Amino acid sequence: MKEISYAINKTKYFLLDMDGTVYVDDAPIGDVKNTLRYLRARGKKIVYLTNNSSRSKLRYEEKLKALGLYSTEDVIYTSGMATAAFVAENYRGKKVCLLGTDALAEEFSTVGIVLDDDNPDLCVLGYDTQLTYEKLRRFTVNLRKGLPYIASHPDVNCPSKDGLIPDAGAFMEMIFASTGRRPQTIVGKPYTTMGETLVKKFNASRDEFMMIGDRLNTDIQFGLNCKFWTTLVLSGETTMAMADKSTTKPDFILEDINRLVDNF
Ligand SMILES: [Mg+2]
Repeated sequence: MKEISYAINKTKYFLLDMDGTVYVDDAPIGDVKNTLRYLRARGKKIVYLTNNSSRSKLRYEEKLKALGLYSTEDVIYTSGMATAAFVAENYRGKKVCLLGTDALAEEFSTVGIVLDDDNPDLCVLGYDTQLTYEKLRRFTVNLRKGLPYIASHPDVNCPSKDGLIPDAGAFMEMIFASTGRRPQTIVGKPYTTMGETLVKKFNASRDEFMMIGDRLNTDIQFGLNCKFWTTLVLSGETTMAMADKSTTKPDFILEDINRLVDNF
């Protein structure tokens, strides 16, 4: 196995999970602010990656800014943005029936995708926190026509201050129960599509990306699936004992993201 210092030097794009990796709830992890500064000063690009397709990137920008973790050259990349990029490239000129928030609709409009619930060419499911029965009804009616079906990410639940609440994966199960259909493409972590859109966006090679995250089955599996470098941090959900037991093996394991600077 390559040394971590080799991988860090090779990496141009640090793909960072947020909760558990750069902050926990509202507290930055240790001296992460300076770690990020250190990376930027060495020409590394910080790319914040999230599966949540319900919010616009501005919402994340605000939060990261408030914690001192955002710089204007950083990139925030949501599964919603990746889904819009994927649809724009693979279904050029096609009309979309979207089950998603206004923020996701805006993301689609930005890349020139036309939304049309009455006569669409494909159906796209996001994490619709503005879901209504009417939206669900229209979406399933269109799905029954046999149109292509794409989803932004697979998470069944989303953490909230009140505990877990239903996410896009739970909507998929409800839609499956009704229509018998499952998405042919799921864009977000741990699937590869979001990685493919990033490779294209930055026009870079795979060994110029390092995925850093606190979850083995999403962050690390995503990085492995995409053939990026992978670094598990133990500042969130995963303990060393869990990492030892798991069959999902990251390239590197660090106590937290700040240990990167020891390895330059
Ligand atoms: Mg996390």
